[in-house]
Amino acid sequence: MASKPIQQQWDVVVAGGGPAGFFAAIRCAELNPKLHVLILEKASQTLGKVIISGGGRCNVTHACFDPEKLITFYPRGGNELRGAFSRFQAADTVEWFEARGVKLKTEADGRMFPVTDSSETIAECLRASAKKAGVEVRVGAGLLGVEKDLRNGFRLEVRMEANVFPIHTKKLLIATGSDRKTLDIIKSLGHAVEEPVPSLFTFNVKDKRIESLAGVSVENVTLEMDSIVQRGALLITHWGLSGPAVLRTSAWGARQLHQYSYRARLFVNWLADMSFAKALDVLDHNKAWQENARKKVSSNPAFSQIPLRLWKQLVEFLGEKNWADISKVEMRRLAEELTACEFMIEGKGQFKDEFVTCGGVKLTEVDFKTMQSRLVDSLFFAGEVLNIDGITGGFNFQSSWTTGRLAGNALAQ
Ligand SMILES: Cc1cc2nc3c(=O)[nH]c(=O)nc-3n(C[C@H](O)[C@H](O)[C@H](O)COP(=O)(O)OP(=O)(O)OC[C@H]3O[C@@H](n4cnc5c(N)ncnc54)[C@H](O)[C@@H]3O)c2cc1C
Repeated sequence: MASKPIQQQWDVVVAGGGPAGFFAAIRCAELNPKLHVLILEKASQTLGKVIISGGGRCNVTHACFDPEKLITFYPRGGNELRGAFSRFQAADTVEWFEARGVKLKTEADGRMFPVTDSSETIAECLRASAKKAGVEVRVGAGLLGVEKDLRNGFRLEVRMEANVFPIHTKKLLIATGSDRKTLDIIKSLGHAVEEPVPSLFTFNVKDKRIESLAGVSVENVTLEMDSIVQRGALLITHWGLSGPAVLRTSAWGARQLHQYSYRARLFVNWLADMSFAKALDVLDHNKAWQENARKKVSSNPAFSQIPLRLWKQLVEFLGEKNWADISKVEMRRLAEELTACEFMIEGKGQFKDEFVTCGGVKLTEVDFKTMQSRLVDSLFFAGEVLNIDGITGGFNFQSSWTTGRLAGNALAQ
């Protein structure tokens, strides 16, 4: 069946039916019900990423209610978000959803999810709020091109099935996520775009010391790659290394790792932040301790925080020696294995619970009070289309809610 043509004149068009686009459209229509607001979504359904997010549970935001602290979770965009978070932050997100009957809960690590543990709850809430506010939503409708109309606003080309419709809008919000074709449209309007590259991924590492240890985790390690230092839990997988410390390193090092084609040296301190000298000291005591001297190193670890299976593989280079038989040189090598264990990253893996792209519209070209372009009048941006990305934990949705909200305020004017 041929799709219904779209009405030609709009006050506000939002390109992209993701969380940023919905949040902006709802706010705008609620503030100014007289406006005709349209969301264009090129996929067959809206809010696709919300549905698959957080392993199907949607990690909506993070229980971090201090804007100054909140910005520290963004490898790119933190500074620009400082003011934006003082206007709409995680506590406001919680309130927004609760006012619409969606209660959120906080997990031990600070991540917040709907109490239903279902991302459909969030998607349904956004869809129902948009409908109630009178926002028109068209799916299967992709923005193909934008021309500035010198009289007032923009002339858009919209593809629906095999047809291309021209429509006119006074204001345009681009909230198309990391879609590359739309980034070309944005460039054609004169904006600079930072090249999009992946952030938040696991590391492929092939190394005898972690072979057959999939599932083993260490609560608190320090990772060092280039000048990036990150602390947290580490998980050994079939393909290499994962866990919060790895994901954070991948986010902060997203650009470098892309530049190195995902091959880089990584140093792991299995003892959190213990220094080489301190580790050596503990090992020397262990050796000198009478009770231990005649025991095998491999089955009598000196540090309880390292799981036994991992310890056995880290000390394999010593052979089956007793503590008393380790030479000074071997002791130093062991201390190094424990505090600066070198691995080679040989590629990136997928982190299925959350994935995000760094890169997008250059932030200096956007006014973060209104999310309006500093170059093109009546053009706005929100969400992942901007060069903003957070580490895992609900921070990526939070920047979409915040920038969507601010854009919605300004679009309603
Ligand atoms: C598997 C996965 C899980 C995730 N889990 C989480 C999580 O739990 N917590 C978290 O904080 N973040 C999570 N993220 C990241 C989060 O989904 C994104 O940061 C967020 O969706 C960005 O919102 P957005 O509205 O800017 O863009 P998007 O959600 O990407 O929405 C953009 C929309 O625009 C549409 N579009 C693109 N081009 C056009 C066009 N030319 N015309 C019309 N429509 C167009 C797209 O089809 C899309 O629907 C996850 C991401 C993935 C991939």
